Amino acid sequence: MRNLRSALHAVGELVWPRNCLLCDVGMPAEPSPLCLCPSCQSALISDSFSTCLRCASSIGPHVPTTVGCARCANEKYHFKSAQRLGVYDGVLRDAILKCKNPGQEILAETMGFLWGEQSRSRLLQSVPQIIVPVPLHLRRRWERGFNQSESVARGLSVALKLPLSSWAVRRVRATPSQTSQTPMERRKNVVGAFRSGAFATVKDLRILLIDDVLTTGATSEAVTLALLAAGAAQVDVAVLAHR
Ligand SMILES: [Zn+2]
Ligand SMILES: [Zn+2]
Repeated sequence: MRNLRSALHAVGELVWPRNCLLCDVGMPAEPSPLCLCPSCQSALISDSFSTCLRCASSIGPHVPTTVGCARCANEKYHFKSAQRLGVYDGVLRDAILKCKNPGQEILAETMGFLWGEQSRSRLLQSVPQIIVPVPLHLRRRWERGFNQSESVARGLSVALKLPLSSWAVRRVRATPSQTSQTPMERRKNVVGAFRSGAFATVKDLRILLIDDVLTTGATSEAVTLALLAAGAAQVDVAVLAHR
């Protein structure tokens, strides 16, 4: 009996990590499917700003949220709305950077699940029918072993009970990293980089498009155009963080 109990304990430790995936602090004795300590959980969901409904930027408390903000006034977006889990800073920024490392798929999925549980009504406001992650180019995906946005989307799809369509859109052109580019370069970089419709139909569907970080919105816009060209009814964007 004792052998059986210790075997079960060992399996339990494999299934439920004993330490927080983010800060490595020991977890409470009761296993939690989230694998994040209470302090990291509350830091991840503590976005205290009002946000622009068009581009997910932080805005002042008395600014109207429906018509766009100073930051997106000159942008032409074809997605209907944008929302975020938080600002690209602090614990959320650390978590997003960690998600890109090998073996961190479970952290990305966990964050997606936490986000879905926390912001269910807001995420479902546009009545989406499927969740689609922004794809990596196949070569980049092969190198990394997974697409962190797809892992976040998988966690969201479990929490929101919505189907995930990982192949609704493909990145047909590898694009250089955008972190050191100007806004204009970012826009040029992603034009025509995505194509939809070859592997899964999106016709007449309302789509919740998931990415990790939104800066200018150029990537979300390029994917949205590909999805709309393939017949999608509507695209709404949800990102882990706005930078
Ligand atoms: Zn923690
Ligand atoms: Zn805006």
